[in-house]
Amino acid sequence: MSDLKSRLKDPSLLRTDSFINGGWEKGASRFDVNNPANRTKVADVADVGAAGAKQAVKAAAAANLEWRRTSPFERARIVKRWHDLIMEHQDDLGVILAMEMGKPLAEAKGEVAYGAGFVEWAAEEAKRVHGETIAVPFPGARGWTIRQPVGVVSCITPWNFPSAMITRKCSPALAVGCPIVIKPAAETPLSALALAELAARAGFPKGVFNVVTGEAKHIGPVLTQSDEVAMIGFTGSTQVGALLMEQAAKGIKRVALELGGNAPFIVMDDADVEKAADGLIQGKFRAGGQTCVSPNRVFVQEAIMADLTEALAERVKKVKIGDPFEEGVQVGPLIHDKAVERVSELVSAATAKGAKVVAGGKSLAKELGGSFYAPTLITGADISSSIAVNEIFGPVASLYPVKDEAEIIKLANATPYGLAAYLYTRDAGRVHRITEGVDFGMIGVNAPMVGSPATPFGGMKQSGIGREGGKWAAEEFTELKFVLLSGIDE
Ligand code: NAP
Repeated sequence: MSDLKSRLKDPSLLRTDSFINGGWEKGASRFDVNNPANRTKVADVADVGAAGAKQAVKAAAAANLEWRRTSPFERARIVKRWHDLIMEHQDDLGVILAMEMGKPLAEAKGEVAYGAGFVEWAAEEAKRVHGETIAVPFPGARGWTIRQPVGVVSCITPWNFPSAMITRKCSPALAVGCPIVIKPAAETPLSALALAELAARAGFPKGVFNVVTGEAKHIGPVLTQSDEVAMIGFTGSTQVGALLMEQAAKGIKRVALELGGNAPFIVMDDADVEKAADGLIQGKFRAGGQTCVSPNRVFVQEAIMADLTEALAERVKKVKIGDPFEEGVQVGPLIHDKAVERVSELVSAATAKGAKVVAGGKSLAKELGGSFYAPTLITGADISSSIAVNEIFGPVASLYPVKDEAEIIKLANATPYGLAAYLYTRDAGRVHRITEGVDFGMIGVNAPMVGSPATPFGGMKQSGIGREGGKWAAEEFTELKFVLLSGIDE
């Protein structure tokens, strides 16, 4: 058993029951949450099943009218209090997150702060939900629009950002007046439950904030098909996103989907090679490569291929892998052993077709006693190999030489995904032509990270529908109504 509780300054943040209608529910059975760095059990958590999900949806529906009628200024105050509590407990939330997910402690605390940024932004935006007046073509009539909350939102979230994927989605929903039911990933429910504990302290009314834990196949259909649910906000794989969209289609429910990616990282021959190498290390090895926006295919113009490979090899060999709680560790374990097997298979398939391992290239599960895979650099993989076609979701950078802009745009777009892309160049013409030519929702130019509370986050094609972040998030969770007034001032 891992000693999570003893590491917390506020041990009451370690909650292991579901949070429904303002109370903690034990559920009929329990499931284990494990520490991927050493495979020890961290806690057992309630599985409330379909019955618990129904109870949570019912509670959210009962709270709907009161919450949507609560003044936006009051909602903003409660959401802001939630933000303040999250930041007050950033250290503890970081410890919980690092232990259940495995990202290094400093990075885990960084995720908590990144996620809290969305909560603060949403609290501010609650006061800025506007309509418009419209000149209408009918004599004496007036027209205007109003924006109102959609209603109960189901939020289903992944394990790779156990805190930020909840706050990024839920805080705008709450702020504009939607009650929520969250289903966190089975690997990382403790961060979600700690956020629920802080939401309770922040003063959300009973039923407005619910977290249900347990088996997805039982809870999922309730969250996507209950009559009382108006919208499904999902972050996770494209495969599960498609399934949930299909389930939601029966009730014509609104969906917002943040799905998988296959990000190109393009380095042009005029780029600053050292900065591109630094950027790739930063973007690629964050969360051990287990992010939707992780650079997946590194396209390098032939003239600088040798220089960039050398600059990267030097850096990849220095990336420190180990226990998330050890000082200076940059890469922790992958989420579980199956993830290590999957990454090993992708690398083996690439090398079988002629790719060369420049650094790493092996599991460190035995040496380090958890689900570890070495930070890896490979070159020469075939562009049709599984490592180029699939999300790697591991600490492996794979480099592909490319000739010119036309080939780069063609290869970058040769994927069903369209989430994030990166471009390193100092040529303004190239910036415009390539950012306009590639089909991705977010493009970092000379920047290895693209997310912030102020900016739209989301993808095109099979990477999703809708945008989180900035002013766009409030639009996702509100309905636009048009009112035509006639017969009064004719
Ligand atoms: P996942 O397998 O799709 O799971 C995501 C969530 O869906 C989990 O809570 C999971 O619950 C739940 N789920 C699975 N099957 C379900 C079903 N039949 N009905 C209802 N819920 C179901 O994804 P993951 O492995 O956790 O996360 C990695 C994926 O997320 C990657 O593809 C990554 O690119 C993507 N992602 C995208 C973004 C973005 O912003 N676009 C951000 C982060 C991650 P259980 O855990 O209980 O199975």
